[in-house]
Amino acid sequence: MEACSGCGLTIDGGDAACQQLFDEFRVREAADLAPSYASTRLTIDIYSLQHPDRYCVSAKSLAAHLTGLAWALEHDGSDTGLRVLQRWVNGRVDIPKPEIPGVRGEVTIGDVHGVPDREDYLAAVDRWAGSTWTAYASLHAIARRWIDQAVGQA
Ligand SMILES: [Zn+2]
Repeated sequence: MEACSGCGLTIDGGDAACQQLFDEFRVREAADLAPSYASTRLTIDIYSLQHPDRYCVSAKSLAAHLTGLAWALEHDGSDTGLRVLQRWVNGRVDIPKPEIPGVRGEVTIGDVHGVPDREDYLAAVDRWAGSTWTAYASLHAIARRWIDQAVGQA
């Protein structure tokens, strides 16, 4: 057994096995579990923040995923808001890349992938989102600033 270098999940096969678990989960999510586009977006943001060496290499990609998570937890999570954030991050923004926390939440895809139905899915994603957001506490202020910029520009 190895620990995934991103989220710390102990799994036979390490990083690649963690990614595979997520890929399989995404198929079930799209086909069956997720009630809306916004929730499938949210799981990408969470997984990316827990695996920043792969998915948050640039300041922009970090900003996209971090503001997406913040939008879900601190705002209404609406598709309209997500589009505003996406436009902002795809535009000409010059933002610094802050240091990413080394520990990224106690809840991982290992706790989420086996959910039996939509109700459990929603509860598990909620816990996963909260745990990841808490782990990113050092970046809450900058995430809120980025959202203000995006909304101010829209
Ligand atoms: Zn992982």
